Amino acid sequence: MLSIKPTNILILGGGFGGLAAANELRQNLPINVKISIIDKKDYFMMGLVKLWILNGTREFEFSKKPLKSITTKGIDFINEEIIKIDQKKKSVTTKSRELSYDYLIIALGVELAPEQINGLYEHGLILYEIIDVPKIREAIKKMKSGKIAMAIMGMPYKCPPAPYEAALLIRSMLNDLGTNDSIQIDFYSPAPITLPAAGPQVSEELLQLLKSKNINFHSLHKTVSVGKNILHFENSETNFDLLIAIPPHRIPTIIVDSGLAQKGKFIPVDRTCKTNFENVYAIGDVNEIMVTDKMAVPKAGIFAEGEGITVARNIISKIRGEQEKAIFDGKGGCFVEMGKRVAGYLEVDMFASPNPITLLKQPSEQNFKDKEKFEKDRLDKWL
Ligand SMILES: Cc1cc2nc3c(=O)[nH]c(=O)nc-3n(C[C@H](O)[C@H](O)[C@H](O)COP(=O)(O)OP(=O)(O)OC[C@H]3O[C@@H](n4cnc5c(N)ncnc54)[C@H](O)[C@@H]3O)c2cc1C
Repeated sequence: MLSIKPTNILILGGGFGGLAAANELRQNLPINVKISIIDKKDYFMMGLVKLWILNGTREFEFSKKPLKSITTKGIDFINEEIIKIDQKKKSVTTKSRELSYDYLIIALGVELAPEQINGLYEHGLILYEIIDVPKIREAIKKMKSGKIAMAIMGMPYKCPPAPYEAALLIRSMLNDLGTNDSIQIDFYSPAPITLPAAGPQVSEELLQLLKSKNINFHSLHKTVSVGKNILHFENSETNFDLLIAIPPHRIPTIIVDSGLAQKGKFIPVDRTCKTNFENVYAIGDVNEIMVTDKMAVPKAGIFAEGEGITVARNIISKIRGEQEKAIFDGKGGCFVEMGKRVAGYLEVDMFASPNPITLLKQPSEQNFKDKEKFEKDRLDKWL
């Protein structure tokens, strides 16, 4: 039997990518290979649940799962904030200790940067911020008439269809509240089309879907600042009664400080997710995998998961002294829920030849059930 020497694998971040990688590694490596996840949060909750909290079909308390439950599988969990990564010393420092590694998987996701938009904190609510989601829900419930402005304020951002999904769910909520006819929804994006990464055809299909629900889409509107009830774009401005924002995203500062990425960029990797440093990998939202000269793999949990499994398989091969063959396939998709237990599904194959393939599947109850299953399957498997 192959003998494997004691090895230490550190996984930074217990989100989509980190949990997928940890489980794949644990299922395939003996116990003298120590696998540890470090996360400053003590729970995992899928991003998509925020939209269920928004429309009142879920509660935060019943949707988060404790990360410490991975310890029952033989994966260590360290609930601390990481403050330094040192690739030369092969170590990671948290607030209370320094840990060494043989293999390092960086899965720290992205940070939201609302402070980059002057006035946003004071005058808007953040769709992707868990503490703001119930406030958005309450504000929508109280509103009797007026204008809801939704604005994407930076590219790239997590889960490209999610803001549109939120707009469709809000429409459905207004319908139930009886305020549908008196509340206008206007959606602003700096991009020329709704979903640049999905291409013009799918973007047009989504645009028609938005129009059919009376949601006005305004392309090429780059937000520069927010005032009381007013959004300032580069070349124009508009009033609003409620602002729901998707703020700019940025790479965690410790990544830049560690020399793994330049300021303002994500960690550049190819489809193996290997960084320039030996045995150091970057997966999920924190990385950038180019598909073409101008387009990168979108930031989504399904891709973070695929990249996590790819990296885990190559580490398993390396530890076993076998050839590393795994390459991230770029296949996945995101749901586009629209209320009343109906959802569309955006299917993508980012590395299809000669061009990426994207397909928007018609809204159906089955897609909604698949969305529920998407969450349940992963929680059951990972935690
Ligand atoms: C509203 C919404 C809907 C979405 N819907 C979908 C969907 O339908 N399908 C889909 O595929 N994706 C969806 N996403 C996107 C998805 O949530 C992200 O793309 C995914 O979570 C990225 O995974 P990750 O592992 O890269 O990072 P994350 O899951 O964000 O995990 C990063 C982890 O690192 C930890 N961390 C960060 N910094 C530190 C530090 N210094 N010290 C310790 N820990 C740290 C964080 O606490 C976090 O747990 C949605 C997102 C949102 C906001």
